[in-house]
Amino acid sequence: MAEGYCVKCKAKKEIVDGVEEVMKNGRKAIKGKCPDCGTVMFKILGGKAATPETPVSPPSSTPPTPPSTVS
Ligand SMILES: [Zn+2]
Repeated sequence: MAEGYCVKCKAKKEIVDGVEEVMKNGRKAIKGKCPDCGTVMFKILGGKAATPETPVSPPSSTPPTPPSTVS
């Protein structure tokens, strides 16, 4: 399971009842609770590494047209 930092226990804890959430900026996070004190923990996952929905490809709308200097 995911691990997060509990600000109350000031220690790393395993997140219980963790649910994956997608934030407004498109980033994924796991929201859960501390197993000891029940404080809500939030672990932000690294970007869109888990599910690459948008393939990295350069926009090919404007193909490069080099000026023909051939005279
Ligand atoms: Zn705690």
